[in-house]
Amino acid sequence: MTQIFNFSAGPAMLPAPVMQKAQREFINWNEQGCSVMEMSHRSKQYIGVAEKATADLKQLLNVPDNYKILFMHGGGRGQFSAVPLNLSGQGASADFLVTGSWSKGAVAEANNFLDTNIIADNLAGQRTSVPSQSEWQLNDNAAYFHYCPNETVEGVEIDWIPNTGKVPIVADMSSNILSKKIDINDYGLIYAGAQKNIGPSGLTVVIVREDLIGNARLQTPNIMNYDVIKKHDSMYNTPPTFAWYLAGLVFEWLLESGGIESIEKHNAEKSKLLYECIDDNDFYSNKVELQYRSRMNVPFHLADPTLDSMFLRESEDAGLKALKGHRIVGGMRASIYNAMPIEGVKTLVEFMHDFAKKYG
Ligand SMILES: *Cc1c(COP(=O)(O)O)cnc(C)c1O
Repeated sequence: MTQIFNFSAGPAMLPAPVMQKAQREFINWNEQGCSVMEMSHRSKQYIGVAEKATADLKQLLNVPDNYKILFMHGGGRGQFSAVPLNLSGQGASADFLVTGSWSKGAVAEANNFLDTNIIADNLAGQRTSVPSQSEWQLNDNAAYFHYCPNETVEGVEIDWIPNTGKVPIVADMSSNILSKKIDINDYGLIYAGAQKNIGPSGLTVVIVREDLIGNARLQTPNIMNYDVIKKHDSMYNTPPTFAWYLAGLVFEWLLESGGIESIEKHNAEKSKLLYECIDDNDFYSNKVELQYRSRMNVPFHLADPTLDSMFLRESEDAGLKALKGHRIVGGMRASIYNAMPIEGVKTLVEFMHDFAKKYG
C-alpha cells in the first residue's frame, strides 16, 4: 500500500505512535478489562489520566502557577461565546483584531454579548497581511483584546505579541498551540479546539490567568463558566473522556520527542521546504506576505486553476490526502501540524515538482 500523508486542516492527522498506543490500549486499558472510554470520569484511574495530561501540558508550555488549565466542551467556537460571557463582567466592550475568517467569526459571536470594537481589519487587503499596530484604534478600557495568531483558512500567522497595555490578550490558538515556544505570561487567556494540534475533536483547552476567572455574567451556562469548570477540575459534567485521554498521549509524545523546542525546529524545517518549492516554481504561488506566512497551514494556488482538479486527483493517487483549499480561498492548502512528519512534506514537494514539470 502507498504510504498515506494526510494534510487535512482539521480534524487533522495524529502522531502515528500515539495512534498505535491508543490501539494497543483500546479494549483493555491498563489491565482494567475495559476501554478508557468505558470508565467513569470520577474513577481513580480516569482522574489519574486527566491529571497526568494536565501536568504534561503545563510542563510543555511552562504554564505559570497563576494560570489555570481547563478542559472544556464546545470547540473553538464555543469559546467565541464563553470568552465574552466570562471576561466582560456585566457589560463592557472588547477590542478585536480581524485578520481572517476565524477572528471575524469570533467578532460575530461576541456581538451577541457586548460592544465589539474592531481595532483593525485587513479585509480590504484580502487577508494576506496584518494591519500594522500603529493603525490600531485600541480602547484602554476594553475588557480584553481578542485575536487569532494563526488564521487556519488564510494561512496568516502573527509571530509577534500585540502591545495592548493593561488590556489582557485573548488568543485563539486552535491551529498553532504547541507548535512553537510561547510565553504564557504574555496572554490573559489562550484557547484552542483540540482537533488540529492536540487530539480528537470535542475537546477544548483553555489556559486562563486566575484573576480573570470569577466575574462571569449571571446568565453564563455552567458548562461555559470558567469558575465552575475550575472548581470541578474540568469535571463539572462528563468531559469528553476519550479525547482528553488521547490528548494526554499526544502531550506524552511531544515530551518524549524533545518538547516544544524540538517540534518548533521540525515545524520550521517543514514549512521552509514547502514555501521554497512554491517560491522556486512559477507554477505555484502563495499570496501571504512573507513575514506572516503560517508554518501550520500553507495555502497555494496553481498558475492555471483549470488544472486544480487534476492536481487533486493525482495527489490523492500518490497518497497525499486532503489538499483541497478552503472554499473561501480556493486552490490548495497543506496543513502541516506537529504530527506531519518531514517525509510527508518531502513527498508533497516531490509530487509538486513532478506535476509542474508534467503540466507546466
Ligand atoms: C478550527 C478553528 C476554530 C473552530 O473550531 P471548532 O472546534 O470547530 O469550533 C476556531 N478558530 C480557529 C483558529 C480554528 O482553526
